[in-house]
Amino acid sequence: MLVLVINSGSSSLKYQLRDVAAGAVLTEGLVERIGMPAPDGGAPEVADHAAALEQVDAALHAVLGDRAIDAVGHRVVHGGERFAEPVLVDNEITRAIERLNPLAPLHNPANVLGIRAIAEKWPEMPQVAVFDTAFHRTLPEHAWRYAVPEWLYTRHGIRRYGFHGTSHQYVSSKAAGLLGLSDDAFDGVILHLGNGASATAIQAGRSVDTSMGFTPLEGLVMGTRSGDLDPSILVFLARQGHSADEIDELLNRESGLKALAGSNDMRTVVEAAEAGDARAAVALDVTAYRLAKYVGAYHVAVGGAKALVFTAGIGENSWQFRSRVAERLGALGVELDADANLVRSKEPRVISTPGSKIPVLVVPTDEERAIAEATAAVVNAR
Ligand code: ADP
Repeated sequence: MLVLVINSGSSSLKYQLRDVAAGAVLTEGLVERIGMPAPDGGAPEVADHAAALEQVDAALHAVLGDRAIDAVGHRVVHGGERFAEPVLVDNEITRAIERLNPLAPLHNPANVLGIRAIAEKWPEMPQVAVFDTAFHRTLPEHAWRYAVPEWLYTRHGIRRYGFHGTSHQYVSSKAAGLLGLSDDAFDGVILHLGNGASATAIQAGRSVDTSMGFTPLEGLVMGTRSGDLDPSILVFLARQGHSADEIDELLNRESGLKALAGSNDMRTVVEAAEAGDARAAVALDVTAYRLAKYVGAYHVAVGGAKALVFTAGIGENSWQFRSRVAERLGALGVELDADANLVRSKEPRVISTPGSKIPVLVVPTDEERAIAEATAAVVNAR
């Protein structure tokens, strides 16, 4: 089955064409600056998502030959409390995703634009929505509830949802496989460390806690996001006269590694620390320490992790950061194999010593692959 995976943003459209049975990527690309003025200030080069899709279609023609796309799978950020699984999209589902717009004002409206553009161009095309929150629908109430008045939840949907679910689910299943366990026999902690970062506690193959909450801002120190902080800081800033938009910008785009070290790129920060930059060293310490605290908490949450799994850009590539985190986990009996930790590979692998009380794994994530496979499964089950 040929599946076109779409990640539709407000001004960009990322796509990947996959042959699911062969596990192959046939082509991929990105259309940018949708609806944005041309560099000379003139009319946009790509007027809207429909125009972007025409560009994608032209690029696909070149590789498809006489074959045709069988289905489209969309990455949808917010599935709210309704969606625990990928679903076949129809008008009612599209409207349900739209009703969740207030919870993900930057993302869900853009996802819907992508869905509608496909529906216009190829009305008969099966479309599947794969939600970033869905895997975390199994969070128990003690993990998803904030200790705030009930109306915040009933009126505004304020609770913890969690994100990166597609990646956490894919990686947890691959990790279980590497340890010779079935998915539902796997207890572990997954660390998805990219520009956005989250940790998930997995018990019996299900998500029982995760570090991102109502939005992707909660939890770990990220590239440009603060992660956890005292909520009174926001109140303090508001009283100082900072607007909601300013505070949003400050915590989502000007914080994290960028604030601590001057760069949101882990490679740059590690190199600077190695060259003796004191700010960069502190940034790594704060980031690794905060992550290690979550590992300790989630080890408890799952009743004893059988594995600790690193994934995404930093988790897969930065042996320096992995070793800083592991150094803080001595109390759990975690011990990395220094040579295995240095290996660069696209394959899932164990990087701890045989004596490590908890095996430490690196498992490359592949969200597009997971979305394509989920899409094929939903379409085949129709
Ligand atoms: P996104 O969340 O945008 O998908 P990625 O998963 O691609 O992000 O991760 C981006 C992060 O991974 C950046 O901080 C980048 O510095 C880091 N990274 C990528 N390659 C390496 C590498 N070889 N060594 C260290 N860090 C890396």
